[in-house]
Amino acid sequence: MDECIFCMIIRGEIPCAKVYDDKDVIAFLDINPSSAGHVLVVPKKHSTNILETEEKDISACFKAIKKIAPALLQALGAQGFNTGINTHKAAGQAVMHTHIHLIPRFENDNLLTFPHTKYLEGQMEEIREKIVGSIGKK
Ligand code: AMP
Ligand code: ZN
Repeated sequence: MDECIFCMIIRGEIPCAKVYDDKDVIAFLDINPSSAGHVLVVPKKHSTNILETEEKDISACFKAIKKIAPALLQALGAQGFNTGINTHKAAGQAVMHTHIHLIPRFENDNLLTFPHTKYLEGQMEEIREKIVGSIGKK
């Protein structure tokens, strides 16, 4: 993908602050971190989003996360971490090359997390039925 910024990083055409590299995966610091040490874990083979990514590449990313995340805890003294995948513009995806955010967390760091709401009466079952009825139909 000629124009893709993460493909350019993978090809070494633009610099990154690399923290991990193997045959299938690269990981580097996000230039606009949610917290210091925010890492992007990126499959080297281009795909637009996680739904398009081959399972072996998803697996390679999570294998890399199992190596990188403990290093964040140890090296940065983080007490936890969030993993996140934004898919499509509505969910905040800005770079159209699959990537997984790995965000170090500290007690009382006041980073925003997902809010929780409540279902109306009967709504939860209605939603559940819709989802179950659609699985595998695409
Ligand atoms: P998303 O909103 O999930 O698509 O996340 C894209 C992330 O890529 C953002 O958090 C950006 O800060 C980050 N980003 C964009 N360009 C670069 C770059 N050249 N090097 C490192 N991180 C980048
Ligand atoms: Zn790409």
